[in-house]
Amino acid sequence: MMDERWIRSLHVESMRHADLHAEREAHVLFQASTIGALLDGSFDGDLTFAELGERGDLGLGTLNGLDGEMIAIDGEFLRADVNGEVTEVGPGERTPFAVVTEFEPTVEGEITAGLDHESILAALDSMARPGTSSFAVRLDGRFASVRARSVPRQEPPYRPLAEVVADQHIFEFTDVEGSMVGFRFPAYVEGIEVAGYHLHFVDAERRRGGHVLGSRSGGPLRVRIDPSDDLHIELPPTVDLADPDLAAATHAAIDAVERAN
Ligand SMILES: [Zn+2]
Repeated sequence: MMDERWIRSLHVESMRHADLHAEREAHVLFQASTIGALLDGSFDGDLTFAELGERGDLGLGTLNGLDGEMIAIDGEFLRADVNGEVTEVGPGERTPFAVVTEFEPTVEGEITAGLDHESILAALDSMARPGTSSFAVRLDGRFASVRARSVPRQEPPYRPLAEVVADQHIFEFTDVEGSMVGFRFPAYVEGIEVAGYHLHFVDAERRRGGHVLGSRSGGPLRVRIDPSDDLHIELPPTVDLADPDLAAATHAAIDAVERAN
């Protein structure tokens, strides 16, 4: 069964695993499950990384059992474990939450050295064309610092994400060459997605990485943006699409989990 709806200016299509159709469309964002389900402790999904790889080559997420932070870049799927150490993800592994896109940027720009994280995000906002609801973004270059975190693998019965995040490990990478990949979503899809920016980092050697909590540019950063108004969602059997009216209620919880530092 497929559900199709407009949430303001974002076209949202959701489907079950059995209804997945082959697609690798430009400017379409594809995600497994919802951030709301992850908050509730739904840490096992039914989508494999092989299937995820058929739907995009850039993105982020996590693995079943909440086994670290996932970074998708240049078609490679990587896991930053609880210590921030990066390894490749096998095609048969599964994800309870991930967002990917076939990255075809239409906006390019540069961010100057010496900007703090808030200023970097403000610069991205100003580069995106007005009226852009959502976009995928990639930043490459030298960072003076990246504050990142990862989470330890969980065993069932799972606790809510807010409790697990209390066990997160935070790392500070300094003077590091690397890439940030991720997305900006509008406030009105909070609960389905993380509103605002969600970025994951991996260094140029693909050895260290994690979920970004803060950063500072160390040199000019190359910026590429791929705007989108289409979000396709694969929902595991136990997950339904969150009512966007509940978005406000989940805002505080998501803020605590995704930006806690
Ligand atoms: Zn993350």
